[in-house]
Amino acid sequence: MGVANEMTALPEAYFKAEVIEVRSLSSVMRRIVLGGDGLADYRSSGAPDEWFRLMVPPERQQRVELPSQQGRQFHFDDPQPAPRWYSLRRWDPERHEATVDIVVHDHGVATRWAEAVQLGDQVLISQPHGRGIDTEADWVLIMADQTGIPAACRILESLLPGQRAHAVFEAPDEAATFTPTSPADLRVCWAYNPSPASIPSPLSAPVRTVELPPGRGYVWMAGEASCARAVRRYFRHELKWRSQQFDIVGYWRPDAEVYQRRFREVEEQVATVYEAGQRRGADSEDILDEVYSVMESRGL
Ligand SMILES: Cc1cc2nc3c(=O)[nH]c(=O)nc-3n(C[C@H](O)[C@H](O)[C@H](O)COP(=O)(O)OP(=O)(O)OC[C@H]3O[C@@H](n4cnc5c(N)ncnc54)[C@H](O)[C@@H]3O)c2cc1C
Repeated sequence: MGVANEMTALPEAYFKAEVIEVRSLSSVMRRIVLGGDGLADYRSSGAPDEWFRLMVPPERQQRVELPSQQGRQFHFDDPQPAPRWYSLRRWDPERHEATVDIVVHDHGVATRWAEAVQLGDQVLISQPHGRGIDTEADWVLIMADQTGIPAACRILESLLPGQRAHAVFEAPDEAATFTPTSPADLRVCWAYNPSPASIPSPLSAPVRTVELPPGRGYVWMAGEASCARAVRRYFRHELKWRSQQFDIVGYWRPDAEVYQRRFREVEEQVATVYEAGQRRGADSEDILDEVYSVMESRGL
């Protein structure tokens, strides 16, 4: 599982950033710009889908310390920060400023942090990693719920003039919609979902009705995990697309606490299947099929 593997690999460095701007982009999205001297050596991977670890500080903690390092292990001061994955919405290499757009939902440490954060607050972030996308495809289909929209917007900005692109985005309501910018020939559709934690994402339905243009296509999707799995199943198993033609990733799931408890029961088996696949040099999507089959046999 390419992304999961890269995401669980330890980051090579942490940086101390300072909050220099906070604003609401919509009723559910907070934009936070990070800067300060601690980002002097921060570098973008250059991949438009890049993500990093935001080490959410304990509540009301405004100052943070860099972790100590032993080999590849990092040790954070107590009380420990909580790691959460976020996309690097924008990196300004001249000003050394990183922009992150955070969805605020019912509960969660990152949500609470984004709601309460103030100018000057410090936070640790890891070096970003990305996989990149196929920029040479004749056409691109980008699908994202609110959590995938920051990376999706950056991907759209990275497309080539004249390339055909279709974006299908999920929003809580019309007030949360906007016009993404892209040099590509872009068409955007919105699907509404006022309660993503309790109502299944509407993103998987349009994929079956969108008329896929001729030529070599590429699909990037990020959003709720079961929806991402359904969309992946469609392209991989129904349309029989090759793994290089799509990157479809679950960014979050409802009731993560319950899921984690159930996942722990198959964790070892999943790791064995995953490592065996890697050892024999199997394609990452073939390994993912095997992992899903273990998980699905246990109702996950
Ligand atoms: C590579 C990658 C990039 C990502 N980029 C972004 C990004 O740019 N912006 C962004 O907002 N998110 C992004 N996410 C998703 C984000 O990491 C999760 O939503 C994360 O769980 C939020 O942390 P939290 O502390 O707020 O909630 P958690 O403490 O993780 O979860 C608390 C509860 O909230 C539920 N929950 C988690 N996320 C949501 C949600 N979005 N809506 C409703 N309920 C939720 C969980 O199931 C759990 O029950 C990304 C994820 C990945 C893997």
